[in-house]
Amino acid sequence: MHEEQLSPFAGETMTQPTVGLARPRTAVTDLTAGNRPATPALVDQYGRVAQDLRVSLTDRCNLRCEYCMPADGLDCLPTTEVLSDAEVVRLVTIAVEQLGIREVRFTGGEPLLRRGLEDIVAATTALRTVNGVRPVTAMTTNALGLESRAAGLAAAGLDRINVSLDSLDRRTFATITHRDRLPDVLAGLAAADAAQLAPVKINAVLMRGVNDAEAPELLAFALGRGYGLRFIEQMPLGPPDAWDRGAMVTAQEILASLSTRFTLTTADPAERGSAPARHWVVEPGSDLPGGTVGVISAVTQPFCAACDRTRLTADGHVRSCLFSRTETDLRSQLRAGSSDDEIAAMWRTAMWGKEAGHDINEPVFQQPRRPMSAIGG
Ligand code: SAM
Repeated sequence: MHEEQLSPFAGETMTQPTVGLARPRTAVTDLTAGNRPATPALVDQYGRVAQDLRVSLTDRCNLRCEYCMPADGLDCLPTTEVLSDAEVVRLVTIAVEQLGIREVRFTGGEPLLRRGLEDIVAATTALRTVNGVRPVTAMTTNALGLESRAAGLAAAGLDRINVSLDSLDRRTFATITHRDRLPDVLAGLAAADAAQLAPVKINAVLMRGVNDAEAPELLAFALGRGYGLRFIEQMPLGPPDAWDRGAMVTAQEILASLSTRFTLTTADPAERGSAPARHWVVEPGSDLPGGTVGVISAVTQPFCAACDRTRLTADGHVRSCLFSRTETDLRSQLRAGSSDDEIAAMWRTAMWGKEAGHDINEPVFQQPRRPMSAIGG
């Protein structure tokens, strides 16, 4: 357990645990929604408070990353089931104004495929949190088409961007994504940097025998341009046969690989807070500035106890965890005419039922029905 963390609501103090798996708060004896404390915040029975909302804007994507989607794609949601722009904005408004959400990250599928993206971002940045602060807005993207949209997104108020980039080798990139689009991604990254969507961060997933040897090169690329870089352990959220625990490149292996070229020291763990990545300080070299590198070891060192996320799928379902096997359907309520207060109450109940943690490392583990592209990474 670490420091007391203030609830987003004035006068409330809550304890947020740190990494590992969550444990029930000792004060809680009856783990039913009826025993939920009377707070407007998105609390769960383990003392976690969700303040970070991930919004999937579409389940469609124009890449087919092997660890995420089958090469021949997936059945997409029918258009009528996807939230309209106005519905997305209404749910985000409830989250920010009533539930204590401070950061909204747009993802997918590929969020740049959403025509109304800039309008949704602008409407989100016009909101104010319960403390009168503008919510932080961010986006995770593959950067295809970002070259022509980065400036407009920055003008709409987007604060930060994460670009997925697993290889700097054109052939390897095409092998992983099934599309020969590396130059477009690099152009998108440069445009995001020019538009000051800072700090630009890169997300990289390593696959054994495919791009795992590229870890040092990816870090050199990021350091040289002042981009952040986070490696993500591959999770069982893609095509059913795409994940193999034995073949997964672990955080430990990633660090060992980086250490062949860089000197790394552990950053202050207190700085991690609820952020999923553990950070290492990279010493400057003769040809490169220093910086930091993050590793998200979701499989080998779960950080569920520090999770402060809630997720909204493109069809308006709340998921409290990437690995949830249950969801709460807000879209039906919204379309049936429920009030904002009623929807907020359903969201709070959904969060109260959040799982202690994912059980990837347990024999009972079952991959969720929705793959990563349909949940929103
Ligand atoms: N299309 C966007 C993109 O490429 O960034 C946003 C959606 S994508 C699902 C979000 C992030 O999830 C990406 O950084 C991707 O690398 C990561 N991701 C997808 N499948 C994953 C898996 N099985 N394990 C770990 N990370 C995964």
